[in-house]
Amino acid sequence: MSERRFAGDTGSERPGSVGSERPPLWRCPHCRSPFVQLIRAERSEDEFISVELICPECLTWMAGDFETDEVARLMREVRSGKAELKKAYENLVESNMAQMASTFTDALERGLIGPDDFS
Ligand SMILES: [Zn+2]
Repeated sequence: MSERRFAGDTGSERPGSVGSERPPLWRCPHCRSPFVQLIRAERSEDEFISVELICPECLTWMAGDFETDEVARLMREVRSGKAELKKAYENLVESNMAQMASTFTDALERGLIGPDDFS
C-alpha cells in the first residue's frame, strides 16, 4: 500500500484508519467529491511526497505521505480538471458575448440605442 499516513479533520476517523478502501487522492473520502484540491506538496523521503489536500465541497482537510506515482496521478487529474474548467469558461464567455452581440444588434435595429447612449 502506498499510504503511510492520512488524516482528516472531521474527527470521524483516526489517522490511518481509511485503509485500503481509501479512494484515489483526487476524490474526497468523506463526501466522494471529485474536486479535491492540492494545497501543498513537498518531497518527504525517497519515494514519498507529503501532500495537503482540501475538499471544496465539505471542507475536509487531509494530509499524508504518498508515493510519487500516486501524487503524479493526482497532478494529472488536477491539470485535466483545470483544462476542463478553462474550456467551460471559454465556452461560457463565447456564449455570453454572442448573446450580448445579438441583444445589441436587436436594440440597434429597433432604434432603442442612439449616439447619445455613448456620450
Ligand atoms: Zn468532501
